[in-house]
Formats: sequence, structure tokens, C-alpha cells
Amino acid sequence: MSKIIIKKIFKWLGAIVGVIILLILLSISILSNPGSFFSEEKHYDSITVYSNKPIGQETDSIMSEVLLRLNAVPIYNPDSKYNLCLCSTQRKFSFFSRLTLRANRVMGFSLLGSAYVNEDYIKELGLKTGGQPKYLTREGSIVHVATHELMHGYLADTYGYFASRSLPEWKTEGYCEYGVNQFVAPKDKGYSITERIDIYLDDSQWNRAAEIHRPHYVWGLMMEYLINIRELKFEQVMDDIVTNEKTYQEMIDWRNSIKDKN
Ligand SMILES: [Zn+2]
Repeated sequence: MSKIIIKKIFKWLGAIVGVIILLILLSISILSNPGSFFSEEKHYDSITVYSNKPIGQETDSIMSEVLLRLNAVPIYNPDSKYNLCLCSTQRKFSFFSRLTLRANRVMGFSLLGSAYVNEDYIKELGLKTGGQPKYLTREGSIVHVATHELMHGYLADTYGYFASRSLPEWKTEGYCEYGVNQFVAPKDKGYSITERIDIYLDDSQWNRAAEIHRPHYVWGLMMEYLINIRELKFEQVMDDIVTNEKTYQEMIDWRNSIKDKN
């Protein structure tokens, strides 16, 4: 190959790499400042909510529910600032999710200090699952998904961004689900932890749309069991000696032992 052709190839490669770096930097700057892409903004403690529809009573009540749940979680840090982007249309959500190379039809994600919530898809899933089982990520609750995504942020703050990424999925997703439900579900008649374990085990409660997040449901219960029943601290729960299989078996044995007593 002549020197001129090799030079040309390198020039083009350099240009392509340059464009890719520029696009990555642009994506990071958009995802770090999502507020400029929303018309509405309101502060709720250390959480700034952005929305593309007027923020009124509906958002106020969503946020009071979110904060109620967060406040009951040991690792929640009220001084840590977060953004919560409530995207009311799929188009708005896709604008951000595309920058992360994620699928567009997901309920939400958390990145660079912001949580993004896909209200359109959450509503669709609520219709598909009929809101059942209650306290499942797919029940159709914006409060649920918003709290879950914010929990990912607080988890990364506490455990370290990269360290938290290396944790097994059942622990990170389970902890976020624990954060969403452990304070409110047991106060709801018919949804104590033992009753939710029974719901998990009962196939008739799970239609096809709900089934996909059945693992998240039980991971949340396993975390609730470890923290609220076994009284383990956050660091103990995240330790490698606490495994998925052992925790699940212990939780089921515990549930059966209560049945035996009654
Ligand atoms: Zn998650």
C-alpha cells in the first residue's frame, strides 16, 4: 500500500474517533444537565423534579410518597442532590435513553446524578398487569419506579459507583425494591412480608406481563428479610458471604416456620 493511502486511512480513522469522542462528550453534558430540556422545575428537599407538563398537585403527591419511602431507608442521604426527570411522553424519555444506548421501552434508569422515568410505558404496563401483584415494579406506579431509580443513585453514593456496579444484580435490584416497599407495604392489609412471599410463590397471581419482574419482587423480599427480620446492616448484606441461594432458602424456611406455629 502506498504511503499516501495509509496516511489517508489514518486521517479518516482520526476523524471518526474525534466525532465519537465529541458525541460521547455531548451525551454526558446533556445527561448531566437534563433540566434545560424540560419546561417545568420544582424542588422537593434535595431532589429537583423536571417535567414537560405543569407541575402541580399530582407531582406534589408523587413526591411526598417518594420521600416517605426514601426517608425510611438507612442509606438515604437527604443532603445528596438528585434530579428526577418525569418524562410524560415516550418521545421525551427516548431522547435521553438513546444517549445511553439503552432500549427506549424501559420504565426508567439512573445515571450521572439523575433518574429518568418513562411515565408512558409505566402506564402501559399498569394496564397489562392490571396493577397485580401490588408492590411489583410493573404495577403501574410512577412512585414505585421513581423511588427505585433514585435508590440506585443513593446505593452508588454509599457503596461507591464502580463497587456498586460489581455487586450481583439480585443485591442492587433487591435493595432498590426493598427501599421502595419495606416501609409502606407491611402497613397495607394483606401485604406483610409473609403474605408477599406467598404471593410470590402463587403462580396464579402472575400474568405474562408481570412475570418478567417476578425475580425483582423476590429479590426485594429477600433484602427485606435480611434487613428487617435478620437485622443485618447494609455492609453485612452486601458482603460476599451473603448469597442468593442461601438467603432465598433461609427466607422460605423462615416463612414455613411461621406457618407451622399457626
Ligand atoms: Zn433497577
